[in-house]
Amino acid sequence: ELASGRDVLTRLLSRKYLPVVLSREVGYAQQRGSRFALLAVDIDFFKRVNDTYGHDAGDRILRQFAELLSNSARAGDYVFRLGGEEFLLVLVDVDADGAMRAARNLRLRIHAETFRVVDGESMNITASIGVALYDGHPDYERTLRRVDRALYQAKEEGRDRVVYV
Ligand code: GH3
Ligand code: MG
Ligand code: MG
Repeated sequence: ELASGRDVLTRLLSRKYLPVVLSREVGYAQQRGSRFALLAVDIDFFKRVNDTYGHDAGDRILRQFAELLSNSARAGDYVFRLGGEEFLLVLVDVDADGAMRAARNLRLRIHAETFRVVDGESMNITASIGVALYDGHPDYERTLRRVDRALYQAKEEGRDRVVYV
């Protein structure tokens, strides 16, 4: 049922499957007493990329970025494109330390990645990452609000960083 709900540009899961995935993971977490984490990932100053290199180059970077996210996720994790240059990772079966480690590694991988733009030109980008651990409450919206706040804080504090709330 998830197969058809992919974002056309990146082939990642689209936002409309977020409730399906999160309610299922809440159920699993409650059965097993386990936790999952949300990572909200937003590319920094992406508008400049479009302004400098054009929208097609921007699209190309989004596809490469999506691939990097998918390759960074473990089997069982979920990678969403929420819209624009904003993504959400659902990391299953992790604690706070594991989620932070994953977020820091991801930030470094983004740093290290060379993004191809037009005519053999390439560039580097950074992203801000918010992290929140599911709190065990049946209402997953609480965790979504926390991860939003974490991302907002990462932007406010200067971008290119990981914030856990
Ligand atoms: P910030 O560091 O605050 O996140 O700055 P930003 O420029 O990344 O954020 P802002 O929300 O101002 O701009 C997001 C830009 O992303 C604007 C839009 O042109 C671009 N964008 C959104 N969706 C797409 C898309 O599908 N393709 C391309 N090429 N660009 C997109
Ligand atoms: Mg952005
Ligand atoms: Mg954004």
